[in-house]
Amino acid sequence: MSDVSLQAARRRTFAIISHPDAGKTTLTEKLLLFGGAIQMAGSVKGRKAARHATSDWMALEKERGISVTSSVMQFPYEGRIVNLLDTPGHADFGEDTYRVLTAVDSALMVIDVAKGVEERTIKLMEVCRLRDTPIMTFINKLDREGKDPIELLDEVETVLGIQCAPITWPIGMGKRLKGVVHLVTGEVHLYEQGRNFTRQDSTIFASVDDPALEARIGGQMLAELKDELELVEGASHPFDLGKYLAGELTPVFFGSAVNNFGVQLLLDFFVDHAPAPKPRETTTREVGATETKLSGFVFKIQANMDPQHRDRVAFMRICSGRFSAGMKAFHVRSGKDMKLANALTFMASDREIAEDAWPGDVIGIHNHGTISIGDTFTEGEKISFTGIPNFAPELFRRARLRDPLKLKQLQKGLAQLSEEGATQFFKPLMSNDLILGAVGVLQFDVVAYRLKDEYGVEATFEPVNVATARWIRCDDEKTLEQFRDKNAMNLSLDAAGELVYLAPTRVNLQLAQERAPEVGFLATREHA
Ligand code: GDP
Repeated sequence: MSDVSLQAARRRTFAIISHPDAGKTTLTEKLLLFGGAIQMAGSVKGRKAARHATSDWMALEKERGISVTSSVMQFPYEGRIVNLLDTPGHADFGEDTYRVLTAVDSALMVIDVAKGVEERTIKLMEVCRLRDTPIMTFINKLDREGKDPIELLDEVETVLGIQCAPITWPIGMGKRLKGVVHLVTGEVHLYEQGRNFTRQDSTIFASVDDPALEARIGGQMLAELKDELELVEGASHPFDLGKYLAGELTPVFFGSAVNNFGVQLLLDFFVDHAPAPKPRETTTREVGATETKLSGFVFKIQANMDPQHRDRVAFMRICSGRFSAGMKAFHVRSGKDMKLANALTFMASDREIAEDAWPGDVIGIHNHGTISIGDTFTEGEKISFTGIPNFAPELFRRARLRDPLKLKQLQKGLAQLSEEGATQFFKPLMSNDLILGAVGVLQFDVVAYRLKDEYGVEATFEPVNVATARWIRCDDEKTLEQFRDKNAMNLSLDAAGELVYLAPTRVNLQLAQERAPEVGFLATREHA
């Protein structure tokens, strides 16, 4: 096997999806802890706090109780390299999350045992389904009273439309929580509050028939458990690797992240069964992960990660080949070679300068705005990875300056913040307005805050008569020119210079479409 094949086979790149408060942050922290990436629980939150000190705008994040920034965490575990891509937590940031999910090979769904399947989980699951992303499920907060486990599986199956294969099964819950049974190995792992971090053989039994177990959990509990296990066997699906990899079945684990319980069983199963990087579609052909030449696409841009340096980092998911520090890569959109100097890898401890990176890994590329979301890098081949869309925003506001002399700064700020992908920036052909589009209303607050904090510009956002946007596609130049002339009042350029129709009403949009049947009106723009 080549180096690339070996390295690709070791990679497990995934994201956690959950409704806010289900325990994503806590579980992330515990996965890092079991992965040996951090010494002490609390570090993820600690890191957040440390960043607050360096960047004021993080105060907004804190104030609103949301996580606007996302990051990438890498740690080795049992001979594998795990890449955990954090997804932004707030509902307003769906588009960002969507793009992170295009960069992973599988997902982990966290469900609160008391709340069951929640609204945001349903949405995220729909996104995963678009690409048949394999999903594992962790049912969290078992130390509290919650729904009956069999009913929960039923809820996941009916609401999310995915079969459940329990891998661990809880013994009791809340105050009566005694542990879990591993349905594949048969082992019983007992729960000892606050002590489950270090593996203790005294808490592990070979099977439910181990005579010593009865002494620990009591005869009645054991009898109930055995009855329930029979029921579970009848009521659930056995684990089927093929179905899991096809996104049709989810292995289910029970535990309590805050108590370290059930997390390691999950992680062990995850690294054994979750998929390594798969082939990916481009405009012309499928690219296999084990191909020796480097390829990758940018799924996220973050401006000003470090306010001291005003840097902009493009996050690239490597799809094939090997990246080595300082190498040149071909930036397909511009047709130019770019030196990927000072690229970052994302070891859990901190950002580090990348030496080598392989399929499934993410690297961060510093740039000054030449790189956009959706861009492909190769070693010369002109291909573009597909499936990383920009959605039409649903809300629009006109930016209004306090100090008109700061127009240049405002334009720069809006353009740079739009590169991160959460908002989109439009310049009408016929006016000097600056229009900002977003999917969620909170975005305008975030942008106003950051404009002030990072660019020293005070701006407000006022209503503007735009209901929806469509990207214009037309291969025939003459038709396009005519269309442009006739509709100039409603046309704008987006940050990438693409032509966009801003419709004041849905009816107007419909009429415009009817009048120009040979012109395409697209609700998403695939990053070209
Ligand atoms: P996120 O919003 O999904 O990232 O959720 P967090 O990880 O921040 O957790 C939300 C709340 O649930 C926090 O107060 C956690 O301490 C708490 N929590 C997380 N895991 C558990 C658990 O296993 N049991 C209990 N009782 N609380 C938990």
